[in-house]
Amino acid sequence: MPSSSSSVESPHPGESVTETVAPADVSGVEIVLDQVTKRYPGQEDPAVNRVSMTIPAGETVVLVGPSGCGKTTTMRMINRLIEPSSGTITIDGRDVLRENPDRLRRTIGYSIQQAGLFPHLTVAKNVATVPGLIGWDRKRIADRVDEMLDLVGLDPGTFRNRYPRQLSGGQQQRVGVARALAADPPVLLMDEPFGAVDPITRGLLQDELLRLQAELRKTIVFVTHDFNEAVKLGDRIAVLGNQSRILQYDTPAAVLTDPADDTVAGFVGGDAGLKRLTLTRVRDVPREECAVAPESTAVEAFRQAIVDSGREWGLVQDEQGRPLRWVWLTQLAHADSLRTVGTPVGGMVSLESTLQEALESLLAESNAHAVVTGRRGEYVGLITIDTLVTHLSDKRDTHARGETGGDDGR
Ligand code: ADP
Ligand code: MG
Repeated sequence: MPSSSSSVESPHPGESVTETVAPADVSGVEIVLDQVTKRYPGQEDPAVNRVSMTIPAGETVVLVGPSGCGKTTTMRMINRLIEPSSGTITIDGRDVLRENPDRLRRTIGYSIQQAGLFPHLTVAKNVATVPGLIGWDRKRIADRVDEMLDLVGLDPGTFRNRYPRQLSGGQQQRVGVARALAADPPVLLMDEPFGAVDPITRGLLQDELLRLQAELRKTIVFVTHDFNEAVKLGDRIAVLGNQSRILQYDTPAAVLTDPADDTVAGFVGGDAGLKRLTLTRVRDVPREECAVAPESTAVEAFRQAIVDSGREWGLVQDEQGRPLRWVWLTQLAHADSLRTVGTPVGGMVSLESTLQEALESLLAESNAHAVVTGRRGEYVGLITIDTLVTHLSDKRDTHARGETGGDDGR
């Protein structure tokens, strides 16, 4: 039975607990699960059976496996929303079962599907929840709320005073992440946080998380049933079978190249070669260029720029440099303004996107080029099918020569 914290470590009323929150410059801490089991009352088999794993400080570890395999149960034992039946869990060497559960949870960010926001509180109040609980003063909280909203890409002035129902699903998820990060916890638990949003928004939120994590280096435990998401986000992935049995725990590259058994291979799927595109980011491959111009540009000037570029088409942007439409030379023959010609650019990818996402994006474009945008949505180049083919054949050559390492895209 887990020991209760109430006898030895009951918190003293009025005591400041601010010191339990790690200071801003501390990155993540190690989490160790040792023989952790959860048996729900009235069930014959344990939902989680003797799971042992070490989650290194500052890494993102993704638990991936089919629905019902015990991912959520495993994750929620780390912050004691579910009490383990046996086994031990330590965070930074401290036994979570000896901590006060409420205090423990203030040091662990938690983000779930549908964001789990309080519907009757404003965005600012939602984000301020944990800082308020641990006794920060109003000024510090207000500053932190704005800083966090900014961090997750929401303009504080616009969103601070809105209610969750006034936000899109993707915006709600961003607020959920801002709230989880608000007290700067060393550990972040994320349970299918992007499961309820559309695929494009999902890709953007994943990109944001990667960018955030590159700065923050928290310890993140991320749960998903989507293998591509696991490969994209994880420094390591734990592929789980029934009762959270660990089928393989390794880097995404190793899982894709060398699945531990048939079950994992089945999960990877038949297109492991193509899935290798998931291991590399757009930022890591050469980008191509085309003629680009703001809508206000004269038609003749743009026509000449396209001709000079050696292509049949170029890209029209808004005044902030964000891509709007593809324009073909043939379309310019009859045009008197760039504002009224062209075909809208479909899906775009960011520097954080995977080559797999770039492939999907370019297949949807009539000129088979994917537009790459920077942090503010501005044009930064193009990805072509040739880039992807070259990348895949380079990888094949590398593996044919038996070389390893350096290919997991980070
Ligand atoms: P996952 O997150 O991988 O979908 P869960 O951890 O939610 O899996 O569930 C693992 C198993 O435990 C499932 O068989 C589920 O039905 C069971 N389970 C989950 N929560 C409870 C509960 N509160 N009471 C009883 N059984 C539960
Ligand atoms: Mg679950």
